[in-house]
Amino acid sequence: MNSRFRFSSLLLSVHPLQGLVEAYLVGLLILASTSHLEGLVDPFVVQTAMFFLCGSCGMWAVLRIRLPDTGWFWRSLSDGLTGMILSLVMLFGIWPSGSFLKWDAIWRLTSWSTDQIIMVFCFTGIGFFFARIFVRLWLRWNAMRKRRMLWTITNAHLMVAIAFALIFIVIFFLVTPYSSTAARILQETRDPMASVATSLLVTFFPVLSLIVIGLVATLSVILPPSAVFSYFVSRRITRRLESLTKTTAALRAGDYTARVTVDGEDEIARLQSDFNAMADRLSTTLRDLNTEKNNTAQILQSRRDLIASVSHELRTPVATLRAAIETMLDRWDNTPPDENRRKVALMESEIHQLSVLIDDLFTLSQSDVDNLSLDCAPTDLLPLVKEVVDGFSPLAWQSGRVEVTAQVPEKLPAALVDPRRMRQILLNLLRNGVRHTPPGGIVAVSAAQVGDILRVDVRDTGEGISPDDLEHIFERFYRGTNAAPESAGLGLALVKELVEAMGGWINVESKPGEGSCFSLTLPMAK
Ligand code: ADP
Repeated sequence: MNSRFRFSSLLLSVHPLQGLVEAYLVGLLILASTSHLEGLVDPFVVQTAMFFLCGSCGMWAVLRIRLPDTGWFWRSLSDGLTGMILSLVMLFGIWPSGSFLKWDAIWRLTSWSTDQIIMVFCFTGIGFFFARIFVRLWLRWNAMRKRRMLWTITNAHLMVAIAFALIFIVIFFLVTPYSSTAARILQETRDPMASVATSLLVTFFPVLSLIVIGLVATLSVILPPSAVFSYFVSRRITRRLESLTKTTAALRAGDYTARVTVDGEDEIARLQSDFNAMADRLSTTLRDLNTEKNNTAQILQSRRDLIASVSHELRTPVATLRAAIETMLDRWDNTPPDENRRKVALMESEIHQLSVLIDDLFTLSQSDVDNLSLDCAPTDLLPLVKEVVDGFSPLAWQSGRVEVTAQVPEKLPAALVDPRRMRQILLNLLRNGVRHTPPGGIVAVSAAQVGDILRVDVRDTGEGISPDDLEHIFERFYRGTNAAPESAGLGLALVKELVEAMGGWINVESKPGEGSCFSLTLPMAK
């Protein structure tokens, strides 16, 4: 809790009724004090107290009564009513109370008629009304100057004008004959208490009243031209700041293309160019972040797909193997040893398939996180192709009566590839070719230099790929309409990933019924 007392919390804070009662009590206090001055001071001093009385009661009410939280019309109406009641308080409260308590020196000693006294009392309420309008204007002005720099600058001009006006008023007071009368009266007052009251009534209060009147007059005269002047003087500054504020708001609202026109060479111009630089930086960072976010989302999605597909792909062969092992164990003693051996061999080939699948998955997951380890080195492709073809052709012939050949030139520049991965790529493509080529067909591997790159083709005379499948065959787990039962749909995805990781790319051309040709484009060693 903030327990510190603030003087401003006393201002404009009470209910009108309370404010009026307080004003009445202030009036009584002044009457009580001035009644004691009778006989001690010049009668003129007591006469001036009439203004002091009305001015003090009025100002007390002006500064204490809170402003209603409504529109201008209702506020004015409420202030008008309060002013009227204040006049009534003066007429029917202060006046009779003063007369009854014999504290009426201030109007008994004046040369004013009763009508004039009534007028002065009534004027308290009218003065209250206009002073409240001034207070409201002042508060409004304060709010305006806090919100707009243009008005802050105008306010600074005003303060200078007001300071001059105040100095002028004080000098004016000092040079008028009134000040010498006041000085004379002050000198003649013997009683120390009475001299304090005299100086208050003939010096301080009139000066204060003049200052208030002077302030109101200065403000009403100076404010409009000063505002116009400041407007023109400060427009260039504020216009540039406003455009900066607008652009900042646009940027905050998400328009990252918003920029401000740099105008001039002063501090504001520097702020404008700094703002633009900051906005440039922000948009670049955001763009990078967005790309990163999309990449991460893509990786996460492909991870999810991978896990779903992997669990599906692994579950079936593992369940089949388990069932086969259980049946075999049940019937082990009743089955001839040759039959058991044949079954174990079948299982071994199943397990081999599984381990190939797991290897492929591992390689793909490594490439997902950019962790694919490649050992690229200048490699002569001719012996490599021959070695793969020679190793694979007997099996191709045995299993499907398909001839696998190598059609390579005498010499070929070295390729910059990882030889182990290159073998894996060729084996995958050969295996696919043989798998999709009917007996009597051919799968040929050729290699050639084309410009500054090397090209390796794996062409088959098989069933070809339908245009619908052709668009998807490089996707993970995609199996075409002609897919073999043991196919997992990972081979070509892996081949593409490896070729691209080595800096090359893969193409395919295929016509259903005529065969397919997978072309690898590989970088040459420098
Ligand atoms: P898998 O290794 O399981 O065969 P791939 O990714 O290598 O999977 O192949 C995806 C699909 O592409 C296969 O299911 C098949 O339909 C098609 N395909 C691949 N190679 C050939 C080919 N040489 N001839 C015809 N179709 C092919």
